[in-house]
Amino acid sequence: MIDNSKHKGLRKRLVDQLIKKGIRSNEILNAINSIPRHLFIDKDFESHAYIDKAFPIGSDQTISQPYTVAFQTSLLNLKPHQKVLEIGTGSGYQTAILVKLKAKVYTIERQHDLFRKAIKRLPLLGYEPELIQYGDGYLGIKEHAPYDKIIITAGAIDVPKKLLLQLKIGGIMVIPVGKNIQEMTCIKRISKNKFEKELMGKFNFVPMLKNTN
Ligand code: SAH
Repeated sequence: MIDNSKHKGLRKRLVDQLIKKGIRSNEILNAINSIPRHLFIDKDFESHAYIDKAFPIGSDQTISQPYTVAFQTSLLNLKPHQKVLEIGTGSGYQTAILVKLKAKVYTIERQHDLFRKAIKRLPLLGYEPELIQYGDGYLGIKEHAPYDKIIITAGAIDVPKKLLLQLKIGGIMVIPVGKNIQEMTCIKRISKNKFEKELMGKFNFVPMLKNTN
C-alpha cells in the first residue's frame, strides 16, 4: 500500500481539475487531495485512479467519478460530527471522504464481495465509519436513525420512502433519481410530513438494486 510523491502529484492535478469544474469547498478539495484513491481500485489499474472518471471495481459496479463524489458531497452541506447514512459503500472511497470530513458514517452495501473488501480496506487506511453493513439499502438502518444526512451513491428509480423517514427534520438527502440517466435530487425534510425537492443536474450512476433483483 504505497502512496508516493507521484500519486500525490497526480492527486494535486485532479484537485486542480475539480476546482476548474466548479468545486469550491476547501474541506472537500482537501479530502480529495489527501485520500489515496488508487488504493480503492485494483492495483493493476492504479494509473486510472487520478483520471476524473468512474472505474470498474468488480461485481458490475464502479467507483464513482471524483467530480461526482465532490459535487454530491458538497450538496450534503456537512458539518463535523453529523450522522450520515450512505447507501452503496462500493469501494469505500466516498465513505472515506465522509469520514475525513468528520462525519459519523453508517454505510450499506448489497454486494457481498464489495462489502467484504470495504470492511477490510477502510480501517486499514485509517478511515473508520461507525458501521459498514451488508444488506439492502432500501431499508436503511432504522436502529441508528434519524440521520442528519443521507447519501445514495446508486441511481434509484424513485425515492425510497423508508429512507425519507430516517431523515432528521432539517436533514438533507442527496439521491440520483432516474433509470438510464439520473437527476441529482436534493431533498430537505422541512417537517414530519413536508419535504422540499431541488434538482441539481444530470448524472450517470449504476442502478440501485432491490435485494430480490
Ligand atoms: N460510492 C461507491 C460505489 C458507487 S457504485 C464508490 O464510489 O466506490 C454504487 C454502489 O451501490 C455499488 O457498490 C452497488 O453494489 C451498491 N448498491 C446498489 N444497490 C444497493 C442497495 N439496494 N443497497 C446497498 N447498496 C447498493
